[in-house]
Amino acid sequence: MTDTADVVVIGGGAMGASIAYHLAAAGAGRIVLLEREGALGLGSTGRCAGGFRHQFTSEINVRLSLESVRMIRSFSADHDLPLDVHVEGYLFLVRSEAAWRDHRAAAAMQRSLGARVDELDAAAAAQLIPGLAVEGVVGATFGPDDGIADPSGLTNGYATLARRLGVEIRLGSTVTRIRAGSDGSSIRGVDTDRGAVDAPVVINAAGVWGADLAATCGVILPVRPEPRHVVVTSAFDGRPDRRTLVIDTATMFYFHREGQGVLMGMPGRGETVPTFDTRIDERWIAEELLPTAISILPNLAEAGLARSWVGLYEMTPDRHAILGPVEGVDGLYLANGFSGHGFQHAPIVGRVIADLVTGSQPLVDVSSLRLERFARGELIGESHVV
Ligand SMILES: Cc1cc2nc3c(=O)[nH]c(=O)nc-3n(C[C@H](O)[C@H](O)[C@H](O)COP(=O)(O)OP(=O)(O)OC[C@H]3O[C@@H](n4cnc5c(N)ncnc54)[C@H](O)[C@@H]3O)c2cc1C
Repeated sequence: MTDTADVVVIGGGAMGASIAYHLAAAGAGRIVLLEREGALGLGSTGRCAGGFRHQFTSEINVRLSLESVRMIRSFSADHDLPLDVHVEGYLFLVRSEAAWRDHRAAAAMQRSLGARVDELDAAAAAQLIPGLAVEGVVGATFGPDDGIADPSGLTNGYATLARRLGVEIRLGSTVTRIRAGSDGSSIRGVDTDRGAVDAPVVINAAGVWGADLAATCGVILPVRPEPRHVVVTSAFDGRPDRRTLVIDTATMFYFHREGQGVLMGMPGRGETVPTFDTRIDERWIAEELLPTAISILPNLAEAGLARSWVGLYEMTPDRHAILGPVEGVDGLYLANGFSGHGFQHAPIVGRVIADLVTGSQPLVDVSSLRLERFARGELIGESHVV
């Protein structure tokens, strides 16, 4: 069975759902979204901590956040759909003079682009989050407009909006190949386990699995999976009142209040070989994560563990997304490699991809994020990967 579409979107995470909606809103024609799972948002989106922030070290990430955070915060009002959003800030704790100089420079850049970022001393950080151990903290930056939101709510919200505009969302449909013409210079559609879909435009929003898919039409994406644990505690006395997302920049341990406990995580076990292995490592949690957690929020010593999971970051060499059309392959667009901050950028990326496909001026110039930057050696660099 073959059918046709004007645009095929591969992947039903936050990114694919947002792209499909924004394409439909821009009048891009018949749009089909293909998701291999039986529900949306079961990839990295469903494992995500839900944070959004303006505090990045590259200008392009700050510019994306300025638009995207606005879209997250006004999602319910704009679309009359529910979305759980808490704007209670991101607090970066810095523990060395050299790192503090870098953080202050980044904060100045963020402010110059229009973000609100305050610089705090250790006492002010402790006042904001009572119970925080701030010995050795040289300074802290606080983004009052940063926060957390529900990844599943945003994904299903965009999917609802997309369906209302006529987008066909096919669950349980695995794309096996992105099909290019015989000389590879233009896209013809995709093959799936349920037949082919012919389309002149294909958007690869298949998350960390997008690299294997791109390879089926000869396009090499430098995206590697990096497993990340998340642990949620049960209720405990002395939990923070605020839902502020706190990051200890010396270890990149982070937490925010979740229900009556906290949600926390930290970079992984230092795998040197990329792996899709998402098994929980209880030993690492007990020997690495928990001691670090208790050294930063000592009241956590009283907390029980309620649940944990592992999700995949989709890392690129310069920790920035790969966005936009691919040189030499007409009709193929990429939205991959978000390096652990793709949830918060899903709204604006959806809009920008729709602008690019329909030939409009993109709301944010993402030309620096095209795939070709790797071959040209034009890497960008981002040190605030949480
Ligand atoms: C532990 C953890 C914490 C995180 N915390 C944050 C955070 O606080 N803030 C933030 O902004 N980001 C965070 N992230 C990153 C964020 O989750 C991702 O960047 C974002 O969800 C990427 O969305 P996506 O739609 O591109 O990918 P995904 O959500 O992975 O969606 C890709 C979809 O493609 C589907 N798919 C794959 N292959 C095929 C195929 N062949 N055919 C059909 N469908 C296919 C998959 O099933 C999946 O549903 C976190 C990630 C993890 C793992």
